[in-house]
Amino acid sequence: MNIHEYQAKAILREYGAPVSRGVPIFSPDEAVAAAQSLGGPLWVVKSQIHAGGRGKGKFKEEAAGEKGGVRLAKSVDEVKTFAAQMLGNTLVTIQTGPAGKQVNRLYIEDGSDIEKEFYLSILVDRATGRVAFVVSTEGGMDIEEVAHNTPEKIVTFSIDPATGAMPHHGRTVAHALGLTGELAKQAGDLVSKLYRAFVEKDMAMLEINPLIVTKDGQLKCLDAKVSFDSNALYRHPDVVSLRDTTEEDAKEIEASKYDLSYIALDGTIGCMVNGAGLAMATMDIIKLYGEEPANFLDVGGGASKEKVTAAFKIITADPNVQGILVNIFGGIMRCDIIAEGVIAAVKEVGLQVPLVVRLEGTNVELGKKILTESGLNVIPADDLDDAAAKIVKAVKEAR
Ligand code: GDP
Ligand code: MG
Repeated sequence: MNIHEYQAKAILREYGAPVSRGVPIFSPDEAVAAAQSLGGPLWVVKSQIHAGGRGKGKFKEEAAGEKGGVRLAKSVDEVKTFAAQMLGNTLVTIQTGPAGKQVNRLYIEDGSDIEKEFYLSILVDRATGRVAFVVSTEGGMDIEEVAHNTPEKIVTFSIDPATGAMPHHGRTVAHALGLTGELAKQAGDLVSKLYRAFVEKDMAMLEINPLIVTKDGQLKCLDAKVSFDSNALYRHPDVVSLRDTTEEDAKEIEASKYDLSYIALDGTIGCMVNGAGLAMATMDIIKLYGEEPANFLDVGGGASKEKVTAAFKIITADPNVQGILVNIFGGIMRCDIIAEGVIAAVKEVGLQVPLVVRLEGTNVELGKKILTESGLNVIPADDLDDAAAKIVKAVKEAR
């Protein structure tokens, strides 16, 4: 689960990490009040969307001006102008995709004078099974590019969970960033605070880009991007309350209500599968036959008819879907339940595209019988290969 920058900064502040003062706002008038309360003389007006690259992003609407999604303002009037330009408009960044994201809230921040910009992130390193730090002197840049062009400028290390963050980790960061004296001390302090926040809040990623040194010699987190491990959300109601569903894919929200593992993708073939491994194999074989999957969907082991109906409706609601492949291996899942779910969903929403169904396992004969007797225009398939070939063929013929 992702949160906004201002929410991430509130958590960092809770842990004592240095961040600027700021106020989240939803209207130009609120922006004025926020700017006045912060005092100036420099303010930053920051679009709050769940995507990075805002500074270099561009708004789709001309009325939003040419200056990107993060703007420095030198007066309260300018804060108000920028806020009016940005709110309600669509910001396109390298991370939003061409559709962009509508900016519905802004963060008005006390502006900092920047001396240097660094990069720092924390993530779970699956190779070591530990929390790892990534630091670089190349702040404010696209870190993937730095990793590609100048990998020697990136320093990484992981932390032993038995000891937690130690003073030598702080020294490693200070050394990597060329910090000495008071600033090195601040770096050590920051490492232990960020590590604690990361572990206690079950974060999946924490990225500070840029981490800056201000002109008056303070280390500060100028940007903050945080995502949380969804599997641990049950023990963080405070984090769950930060969720902004307007930032999420509507189909994925609907799927999460039914506890379906669903990820929207860009392709044309909707997939309903049970088991993550089979779901991935199904996606692979669709690609092998020359089409792209429209989604990943694992309906799970003991799915009910209601769950299957919901899943099918989510797939058919996607305008990109030109064909549907149902691929079920009935182990715990029963094939007749799948058949009933599919029929119930089709009765409600209709079926405008070809549907290939491959069933195998528990109650397979009953499942097939239910589908045949339903009068639905179902194309039956015998195995995974046959199913993929048939749906790809049907989709191509329908074009
Ligand atoms: P991003 O573009 O989505 O990563 O948003 P950031 O929060 O990183 O802001 C983009 C850029 O705006 C930063 O890399 C800084 O160069 C600049 N910026 C952000 N806040 C301040 C500030 O307080 N003072 C100054 N001078 N520049 C800032
Ligand atoms: Mg940034």
